[in-house]
Amino acid sequence: MSTVALITGAASGIGAAVTRRLSAGGAKCVLVDLDGEGAERLAKEVGGVALAADVSTEEASRQAVDLAAGAYGRLDLVHLNAGISSGVDLNAFDAARYRKAVGVNVDGVVYGVAAALPLLRRSGGGAIVVTASLAGLVGYDGDPIYTMTKHAVVGLVRALAPPLVKEHIRISAVCPGFTDTPLVADARELFVSAGFPLLEADEVAAAVESAFYSEETGSLFVIQPGKQPVPYRYA
Ligand code: NAD
Repeated sequence: MSTVALITGAASGIGAAVTRRLSAGGAKCVLVDLDGEGAERLAKEVGGVALAADVSTEEASRQAVDLAAGAYGRLDLVHLNAGISSGVDLNAFDAARYRKAVGVNVDGVVYGVAAALPLLRRSGGGAIVVTASLAGLVGYDGDPIYTMTKHAVVGLVRALAPPLVKEHIRISAVCPGFTDTPLVADARELFVSAGFPLLEADEVAAAVESAFYSEETGSLFVIQPGKQPVPYRYA
């Protein structure tokens, strides 16, 4: 019986790298992305199934879990990864941008957890990994609303881990530093010219894969270039 994985934000960057890794390891993948064509293309490459959907709607997560159930009959691993920068300037506030960032980065994770739990339970347990960020652990001031959303999902992971582990469901978060994906494309040259090392998407994907199988439930894995993921401990 194959492992079945659901990955949001699977068409690009970290989610695509996780999809390729898990598929190479024999998992059947359900790819969810706003970019339906990109998700479909990668699903064809890895032999999975794709759903074009906006994770900020509750319906998207329900449909994604239904797709996993219909296509493969079970669910073992859930990577709640879709995320965006907010671009919100609190001195020139744009409520629509604010709602959008909270919708994708927070609602998308909450809806994803709520939709996945029943099928994970029916499958005998499993693991959820949320892509948070170093900005979920420290007060990154480059995008305060983004920082707030990532702190929110870190809080959710910490609170859910103890009760879920009793049902054989592990939940953890990866907290990468800056990673070379389209999300940071605008700032890439700046990083490179400053000699600031960026993570590769596959380095983060490797950490996500090990987080899925880690017994350290509730852990927040800090990922930095060239280093092993380190479980974060609050002082
Ligand atoms: P990316 O832009 O390459 O990929 C994000 C994917 O999410 C895209 O395919 C996009 O279409 C999809 N997406 C965006 N909004 C969506 C929505 N509403 N519904 C469904 N899919 C949607 O970026 P990435 O760097 O791979 O980001 C993945 C995650 O990693 C995000 O949660 C991001 O916050 C987090 N992260 C990124 C960095 C970094 O420096 N790149 C660092 C720390 C954390």
